[in-house]
Amino acid sequence: MHTLSETAPWRVCLAMLLALLAAPAMAESALTDAQLRFVTANAEFTLFHEMGHLLIAELQLPVLGREEDAADQLGLIGLFLRNNRTRDHAFYRKLVDIAEYWRLEWQRPKPAYEEVQPWDSHALDAQRFYNIACLIYGSDPDNLDWVLQTTGLPAERALYCDQEFAQARHAVEWFEARLRRPASRPVRHRISVQYDPPPAHLVNGQDMLRRVRESGELETVAKLASEMFDLPRDGLLRLSGCGSPDSWYDSRNAEVVLCYERLEHFLLLSRDAPTEAGQPRP
Ligand SMILES: [Zn+2]
Repeated sequence: MHTLSETAPWRVCLAMLLALLAAPAMAESALTDAQLRFVTANAEFTLFHEMGHLLIAELQLPVLGREEDAADQLGLIGLFLRNNRTRDHAFYRKLVDIAEYWRLEWQRPKPAYEEVQPWDSHALDAQRFYNIACLIYGSDPDNLDWVLQTTGLPAERALYCDQEFAQARHAVEWFEARLRRPASRPVRHRISVQYDPPPAHLVNGQDMLRRVRESGELETVAKLASEMFDLPRDGLLRLSGCGSPDSWYDSRNAEVVLCYERLEHFLLLSRDAPTEAGQPRP
């Protein structure tokens, strides 16, 4: 089982999250556009990261280095590939929100048991922040000086970020070219979607469940993965109550779980996220 920070992705759910967060009872006060963007971006990245784990396992992708780092790269490059025609400032602002999430995780006061340990399979929160910032900047260094300013990525790292991005993109394009299901081959296995009841402590859980279900976005992501690749068995994408703000891929049954609590966690952290594009946090 692979969990994501265990507090802590593909593209999904802009509509899902916007619909979700538009629920009046979801928040104590109205959310700003920046908060909505932060939550949406990080929910998308979470799903793409976990789908990265699923593809690594189900397609037996070769991985050099830590799988958690590979899943982060798969998640981010997946977002690039899906947004190929809309790589504008708004898109990049969304990506920076993903990096900023890891900064917030890194810098927020938390009990010792929530700290990522040096021996953990995941990189430290601070490292994930800089790794993601580097990939974002490296995708277009000539036009993304503001990303350096916003994230504070040091020049010593930034100098080679274009190579890091090109290497990660090459890896994703390499396996996609080899493993994409030929159009002539029928879809053998599918990822289905399951909605578990929301946890009782989540005040607006039922409303959250209804809105996510009505959006149909989880089904869209499941269909995308099922039809893009020739998966060796059926899988499951499940929205569930987990007791902690988590997400994971479980290789025992090819299951990706996104927790209600994780969406709630993004919502809480969004209140401390930067608000203006290109503007560093104070
Ligand atoms: Zn992971």
